[in-house]
Amino acid sequence: MGAQHARPVARVCLFCGANVGARASYAQSARRLGEVLAARGLALVYGGGSVGLMNEAANSALAAGGEVIGVITRELMAREVGHAGLTRMHVVETMHERKALMASLADAFVALPGGFGTFDELCEMLTWDQLGIHEKPVVLANVEGFFDGFLAQLDRAVEDRLLTPANRAMLDVAANVDGAIDAMLRWRAPPPAPKWFRDPVPQP
Ligand code: AMP
Repeated sequence: MGAQHARPVARVCLFCGANVGARASYAQSARRLGEVLAARGLALVYGGGSVGLMNEAANSALAAGGEVIGVITRELMAREVGHAGLTRMHVVETMHERKALMASLADAFVALPGGFGTFDELCEMLTWDQLGIHEKPVVLANVEGFFDGFLAQLDRAVEDRLLTPANRAMLDVAANVDGAIDAMLRWRAPPPAPKWFRDPVPQP
């Protein structure tokens, strides 16, 4: 498969917690995302679960008349965490297939607070951008500064010349869901830039 290049945003993939989290603003943000996508006629693509923040987003998009596409593994479906009321559900065999299908269905990615699954999906989509596998907007909704520690870690990687500033800039950050959707819709592909530093090995 060749690289998938940026195209007008019609389907948005959400990465977020399979738990609801301790702060009301997280669930409110997930619901707001579902609502805004539906109001703008944008489809929601997500992990297909009926749990956590992802369930809040899916239900609110459906309630607002939006299209919601789930991509779930047979195993997760069998564990009865699959959402039964989606517009469409793709059932795949492995977590790798699942992520690849979510990625190819979506024109943009938005992350809300979450745990390992959310960080994994977010970082993999950025890695694919970095490698030129696809070129699509990736935006964080940094609700209540949830991602501040993660962003500080990325800055440390840039400072230590393990992440180029151009690659670091692939991640857009907004303070809330409305800002994240605006950033996603305003996004333009960046000019080509070197992906690696190619520094000499530092000496002690
Ligand atoms: P986490 O951030 O660790 O809570 O994991 C959430 C992310 O991983 C979501 O974006 C999903 O794609 C995936 N995921 C984790 N648990 C589930 C589940 N029970 N059902 C569907 N997807 C899940």
